[in-house]
Amino acid sequence: MKQTEFDLLIVGGGMVGASLAIALENSELTIGLIETHPLKSNSQPSYDDRGIALSYGSQRIFDSMGLWSDIAAYATPIKQIHISDRGRFGVTRLSADAEHVPALGQVLLARELGFQLNQRLQQQANLTLLCPAQVEKLNQHTDAVELTLNTGQHYSAKLVVAADGKNSTIRQLLGIGSWQQQYQQTALTANISTDKKHQGWAYERFTDTGPLALLPMSENRSSLVWTVKTGEEKALLALSDADFLQRLQQRFGYRAGRFVRVGQRHSHPLTLMQADMPIQHRIVFIGNAAHSLHPIAGQGFNLGLRDVAVLAELLHNEHDDCGNMQILHCYQQWREQDQDHVVKATDNLVKLFSNDIKMLGHLRGAGLAIMDNLPFAKHWLAQKSMGLGQKQPRLGRGMQL
Ligand SMILES: Cc1cc2nc3c(=O)[nH]c(=O)nc-3n(C[C@H](O)[C@H](O)[C@H](O)COP(=O)(O)OP(=O)(O)OC[C@H]3O[C@@H](n4cnc5c(N)ncnc54)[C@H](O)[C@@H]3O)c2cc1C
Repeated sequence: MKQTEFDLLIVGGGMVGASLAIALENSELTIGLIETHPLKSNSQPSYDDRGIALSYGSQRIFDSMGLWSDIAAYATPIKQIHISDRGRFGVTRLSADAEHVPALGQVLLARELGFQLNQRLQQQANLTLLCPAQVEKLNQHTDAVELTLNTGQHYSAKLVVAADGKNSTIRQLLGIGSWQQQYQQTALTANISTDKKHQGWAYERFTDTGPLALLPMSENRSSLVWTVKTGEEKALLALSDADFLQRLQQRFGYRAGRFVRVGQRHSHPLTLMQADMPIQHRIVFIGNAAHSLHPIAGQGFNLGLRDVAVLAELLHNEHDDCGNMQILHCYQQWREQDQDHVVKATDNLVKLFSNDIKMLGHLRGAGLAIMDNLPFAKHWLAQKSMGLGQKQPRLGRGMQL
């Protein structure tokens, strides 16, 4: 049986798997990337029209990887964030000026990010693109993991990185369980034009049916993530553009101006998932394959990119055996706290802000108002949303590998 050997096989060429391959482009590792979809196709589900808010920390990681200069032209800076609770008096405002940073984050279309990542993958000398193809079988041996693809080809590697998304095939093949929260919520995404310039404002508005976020984008558009109870999205998807805009305006109010145009609408059912055992013999799970979040605070990809930055640092100079268990333990120890914290914080936020208990509503309003007057509390929240405040890998500190 003919088998091709690599140091590293990455399964999944979405945002996270692609970023890991690029982060390792100057290493001596031989890398194979297996992806279900052809890289040039528009069918890759994670590269749709959703707006991705990149934290300040993620921007720094991309900058250290030499990617930010390609991405910057498509990104819109977030200068301020306005957090409010519909029907309550309290608000909290965060600003880039107060944090002494040029922007709290940057927003770009997942499609445009995907295009830039795919361009870079195609120029990478130490990378073999194995797509379109899917993993069908996996065998763990002492010194390597062997993968069989639906194309009939066999590959082996010292380390397999599973970056194959929320419903990870690798997780299923290994029979690894996961902790899941079914929120019975669905996110409706669309790009919205307003009659007023957004001036870099991002809005997070909590409503009794779920949070509603508007992220600033180019040409006076904003990216909408509207969370509704599952089932309710059907009626919203079926509305005419004018009726949809009217319904949104009722829900959001006029703080961002009048909503005048809406692009294509998509829906995404929401669950929170954390894999039980993210490291295995010669296998590691990263990104959505390890933890998939509710988009309430726009943290999913940012968390996955921090997985990438740490793993790339640990693998970069590992020429002998990049799959040894010591490296994987080290990775797990480094990432555990940040992952657990973001998963729990996201879950708590969803539960706190997605219910209509009157007393809790008053407390939320008061909490937002108090926070707005406490600079240290706002600084803490801003640091968290910028992806700072934990032990930073080299790429997160602006250093190359
Ligand atoms: C509505 C919404 C808004 C969001 N907004 C934000 C935001 O503002 N900021 C933020 O940081 N995050 C955000 N996220 C989260 C972000 O989209 C995800 O965290 C990110 O897409 C995860 O990337 P990934 O590469 O880990 O997984 P995926 O994007 O799911 O990619 C997995 C890849 O693996 C491939 N694959 C799957 N199975 C196989 C197989 N067997 N063999 C080979 N390949 C396979 C798939 O084709 C895919 O390309 C949002 C998510 C949603 C739903």
